[in-house]
Amino acid sequence: MDGTATGATGPVLILLGPPGAGKGTQARKLQEAFGLVQLSTGDMLRAAVAEGTEAGQAAKAVMDAGDLVSDEIVTAILAERLDAPDCAQGAILDGFPRTTPQAAALDRLLAERGRALAAAISLEVDDAAMVDRIAGRFTCAGCGEGYHDSAKRPAVADTCDRCGGTEFTRRADDRAETVAARLEAYHRETAPLAAHYDTQGKLERIDAMGEIDRIAAELAAIVQRAQA
Ligand SMILES: [Zn+2]
Repeated sequence: MDGTATGATGPVLILLGPPGAGKGTQARKLQEAFGLVQLSTGDMLRAAVAEGTEAGQAAKAVMDAGDLVSDEIVTAILAERLDAPDCAQGAILDGFPRTTPQAAALDRLLAERGRALAAAISLEVDDAAMVDRIAGRFTCAGCGEGYHDSAKRPAVADTCDRCGGTEFTRRADDRAETVAARLEAYHRETAPLAAHYDTQGKLERIDAMGEIDRIAAELAAIVQRAQA
């Protein structure tokens, strides 16, 4: 214990990764194994507004006026969350920071609390494999069973294994061009952040293309180092 009011000493981690890299799954595993709380920007914002916290009220006023919530307000909401007792064991930030000014604001916020960022963990994906993985998905229109062009085809062509249906749907968001564009945007957005944390010696890159359990074990090792 460091003698502060909250006694909060648990590690704060940032999880970086494109949609489909398994961030949500891995965050849940870290939550179960270490009691780390996953803080995603959208959830925090909604909760702060619903609870009417000071920063939540500020956010609501801005949104009611049709404006975007500023970095300053998001940072204030994050500060409120980090000070809450459930974050004493540590927290995983998902979706914040997104820009280097936000990263600098987070650095200040943690320094004010005598907490340090344990690591910014980048879940690294192979873009081409990722496009295949996502663009190959399709779903039975009848029962919702999920399939994949290469990983899981119906036993009988064009016929659902579960319900015998012959209508299948593909999400427009899963189209190869859309997925590739999303990945490109992610890399463009994340490169400056990765550089920010690399300079601080805080960047950890994990190959996120393999087994979920192997990835989870690598993440757990990082958290354990941070706790030591
Ligand atoms: Zn079906």
